[in-house]
Amino acid sequence: MRHSDGSKRRLAMAVPAFMLALTLALSACGGGGGSSGSGEGSGSGGKKDDGKILIGLSMDTLQEERWQRDRDLFVAKAKELGAEVEVQSANSDDAKQIAQAESLISQGVDVLVVIPHDAEATAAIVEKAHAAGVKVIAYDRLIKNSDVDLYVSFDNERVGQMQAEAIVKLVPKGKYVYIGGSETDNNAHLFKKGAFDVLQPYIERGDIEIVYDQWTKDWNPAVAMANMENALTANNNQIDAVVAANDGTAGGVIQALAAQGLAGKIPVSGQDAELAACQRIVEGTQTMTVYKPIKLLAEKAAELAVAMAKGEQIQTDRTVHNGKIDVPSILLDPISVDKTNIDQTVIADGFHSREDVYKNVQ
Ligand code: BGC
Repeated sequence: MRHSDGSKRRLAMAVPAFMLALTLALSACGGGGGSSGSGEGSGSGGKKDDGKILIGLSMDTLQEERWQRDRDLFVAKAKELGAEVEVQSANSDDAKQIAQAESLISQGVDVLVVIPHDAEATAAIVEKAHAAGVKVIAYDRLIKNSDVDLYVSFDNERVGQMQAEAIVKLVPKGKYVYIGGSETDNNAHLFKKGAFDVLQPYIERGDIEIVYDQWTKDWNPAVAMANMENALTANNNQIDAVVAANDGTAGGVIQALAAQGLAGKIPVSGQDAELAACQRIVEGTQTMTVYKPIKLLAEKAAELAVAMAKGEQIQTDRTVHNGKIDVPSILLDPISVDKTNIDQTVIADGFHSREDVYKNVQ
């Protein structure tokens, strides 16, 4: 009923009647491989297999390199599974993200996949989607205080632990700066929790002192750079280590360090295995990054979105509490990367080519 009506309306507007008949005939001929057994048995209001599945992908941003990869891999996998994807990106604007999601819902999407800019504000999207009978998957970032149906991400606390572990190994005593992510992103809190779980015993022993600790608005590298400049000024450049929450913020930090002639002299963490960060690692100005194989995440999410659209029950072996409910969750493993294992991880996986990573050092 509800969304298949919307879906039909959308198709009817987009293609002439004979094309519609062709599309339906093709999808009935097993184009959806394996879908015949999916059944409607779950009683969860599954979509009828009489039209192409439409998935809405509502993205916060395309600012970091990773998100284009997420988008492209997600769309490609969904297509391979016989679904279409309508993508919207909100440029870090909550009102825009909500309006775009509303538009996706009114276009008749069968499932909505959301990468929230604001973990709390996007609860409104879940409500609106559910009111239209559309299920919602939180992709990479959790949507808090909502009845979101599924959360697919990496183990984000582990990411934060890896960042601090790598830095503490090099600097077990000294003055630390923490450059966090965007305060509106639940992941930023998880990264911070993971990092401080590792740092806390050192802080309690008096070995490590946190001399500066700031969030980075919208994960903006320019903000991270300005914060790092403030940290350096306030401490007369007497800083021994920086835990930065991702590669973008690490880039800002390293620019601020470079201006003081300190790049490469102070360990800095990161995350995402962005090309620029991988280059900095082999050049020696960034200590580590956390590699998250985006292909696994994007393809898993696309498979689950398609299964959900077909009304299949999704099984997960864990849940994450979002302040309201225990959300069925899938959390993939991140990988800590420094110059000793970059070849065996990021490069071996084809995430970046060897030529690109070592471009400036050969
Ligand atoms: C993601 C990171 C990303 C950051 C900024 C986080 O939620 O998990 O991979 O660097 O957002 O976009």
